[in-house]
Amino acid sequence: MKERITPHLRALIDAGSEAIKNQFVKMRGKNTKKKFPTLDPLEEEKYSPTKGLVHKYKRTALIKVSNYCAGHCQFCTRCRDIGTPEGDLSKEDIKNIITYVEKHTEIVEIILSGGDPFFTPNVTYELLDKLDSIKSVRVIRIGTRLPVHAPRSFKQRNVLDVLEKIEAINRFRCPVHVLIHFNHPDEITKEVSDLMWDLRRTGVVLFSQTVFLRDVNDNVDILDKLFMKLHSLGVIPYYIYRCDYVAGREHFVVPFMREVRIMIALWKRLPGLALPQYIFDAPGGKGKIRVPYLSRQIPRSFADTEGKTIEI
Ligand SMILES: *Cc1c(COP(=O)(O)O)cnc(C)c1O
Ligand code: SF4
Repeated sequence: MKERITPHLRALIDAGSEAIKNQFVKMRGKNTKKKFPTLDPLEEEKYSPTKGLVHKYKRTALIKVSNYCAGHCQFCTRCRDIGTPEGDLSKEDIKNIITYVEKHTEIVEIILSGGDPFFTPNVTYELLDKLDSIKSVRVIRIGTRLPVHAPRSFKQRNVLDVLEKIEAINRFRCPVHVLIHFNHPDEITKEVSDLMWDLRRTGVVLFSQTVFLRDVNDNVDILDKLFMKLHSLGVIPYYIYRCDYVAGREHFVVPFMREVRIMIALWKRLPGLALPQYIFDAPGGKGKIRVPYLSRQIPRSFADTEGKTIEI
């Protein structure tokens, strides 16, 4: 994955943000002894019935809108794909996705992901328009990091069109949730907090997702500040993930016990609505494991949603 840094991120790095720098600037030669074997730990390819669709959990299907993001996060789980045209959806691909979702009426929730759905607003608009008329779809989620990469993009005409569409779906059809990937309080500039107000006016409920990252946010005070800031902007911290075990990304992974200690400290300090669930999407397992951190010990293995034992 190439380095890709927006002018907005560049300005934050130039102003001295180590946390932004460590997420977006390629660290050459940085490595650890531990080596992860795979570029696809979540086996998304195995669960893809048609191009652009991942159907791993019965009631939820995830649509990869494209492989493009405004900025490239160097720890990305999908780093093997990001920035490549292979994820572009043709009319035919979109038709196949929609037909699959129509047929599989057990799918209640659709997640638009990618790449970044707000970075390819025309495709997202088309998908929302088609999903709008599938009766069995009752909830739509959109995962994005564009507010962090380039908040001013939300003033562009075709992004505003998507927001209008979201507002209409929210009013008359079903809830649309927007999940924003935030990792550090430096990412919440004045522009970004103003944008949270604009987004909330469309009726969406805002959630955040965070990844534990070494030398970015592996610290109680930083995460305390991040989650309280988000809470006060009406963004509900949903998940904090253990960094996925992607080959070449070993140096981002925080030691398990350090994460546990941070979570215990956060649990003591934060209001319930500001405390995200701590998740490990273990390689080889099906389902996101809620790490039982209050036991103060990490089990050596977990049972996944299908009862299979996953060693860690
Ligand atoms: C994470 C994920 C979901 C959603 O999981 P929730 O626990 O409902 O947030 C759905 N599909 C795929 C492929 C995922 O990776
Ligand atoms: S925004 Fe998300 S999908 Fe895009 S590079 Fe960053 S982590 Fe990966």
